[in-house]
Amino acid sequence: MNAEQEIEHLKCLIIGSGPAGYTAAIYAARADLKPVVYTGIVPGGQLTQTTEVDNFPGYPQGITGPVMMEDFRAQAERFGTEVRFGYATKVDFSKDGGIHTVVIDGTKTVTADTVIIATGATAKWLGLESEEKYNGFGVSACAVCDGFFFKGQDVAIVGAGDTAAEEATYLAKLCNKVHMLVRRDEFRASKAMIHRVLNTPNIEIHYNTETQEILGDGQVVTGVRVKNNKTQEENVLDITGFFVAIGHTPNTELFKGILDMDETGYLITKPNVTATNIPGVFACGDVQDNVYRQAVTAAGTGCMAALEAERYLAAKESGE
Ligand code: NDP
Repeated sequence: MNAEQEIEHLKCLIIGSGPAGYTAAIYAARADLKPVVYTGIVPGGQLTQTTEVDNFPGYPQGITGPVMMEDFRAQAERFGTEVRFGYATKVDFSKDGGIHTVVIDGTKTVTADTVIIATGATAKWLGLESEEKYNGFGVSACAVCDGFFFKGQDVAIVGAGDTAAEEATYLAKLCNKVHMLVRRDEFRASKAMIHRVLNTPNIEIHYNTETQEILGDGQVVTGVRVKNNKTQEENVLDITGFFVAIGHTPNTELFKGILDMDETGYLITKPNVTATNIPGVFACGDVQDNVYRQAVTAAGTGCMAALEAERYLAAKESGE
């Protein structure tokens, strides 16, 4: 770094711009913490990659993900949040609750009294061209978000972990039939979840089955071509919805060896709060939640993080 370069100091730095980051910003700005949000490479987060959002309270007619995130951003800015396009590339957190340092885009250094991490998680995809083509038009990585659109229809879900099992049983309540595509001859999910799947009559499990191609009419999904990896037999299933539930990757690479995380990389926060193992560093949204992963729960923990940051600063300033 150029010695003459002035380092900007903030009371509250928020990394990430999904529902958690923007909600934290709304609360922090209203508490006069003058927050700065660095958006990351996907401003607005995962919701900008979906179409309709029907389950966020306050939008009785539903709203598209990108428009909703523009609303979040506008609300945060209305109270003075500064939203900047930029990606945190290095962090140096002070273990004793001193000043934290974050490098943006490898070039700009910012210091902050409090840092709120809202970097989210990224859904894993199969990597098929047809999956990308129909994403949002029959292909989804969130059954709870999009299952409703397939009410009474036949759908498929790929995956065999707890998420896939949970989402398959969720879809089975709404849909006529759920084809569950399991690549091995067994599940990875817990016994209780497997039991639930096996006891749901309208879930048909296809073991040793891999997805070859998602079929469509150019507009929406009409089927899926699958292959049995034991017999090599190919088959087409007539479906209108294709759900991918093969796991998520929390965006925590940057914090490895610095913040406590579980074996899959989710940040660990203290019970019932958003505090991490470093004083003044808080985590909210999907980056610390592998169970609910909803916009509304992310927003809820974003609010918690900002309130906790405010209290942390107040206690520090009063010398507690
Ligand atoms: P997991 O990593 O546990 O499971 C991913 C599943 O997707 C595996 O069955 C895997 O198959 C399959 N898969 C991966 N890649 C492919 C592919 N390319 N093609 C086909 N299948 C593929 O992820 P989850 O999201 O299910 O769970 C993550 C964590 O969250 C777990 O610890 C889980 O227990 C927890 N969780 C807990 C819940 C609860 O308690 N209610 C709910 C949801 C999640 P294979 O088995 O062959 O590797």
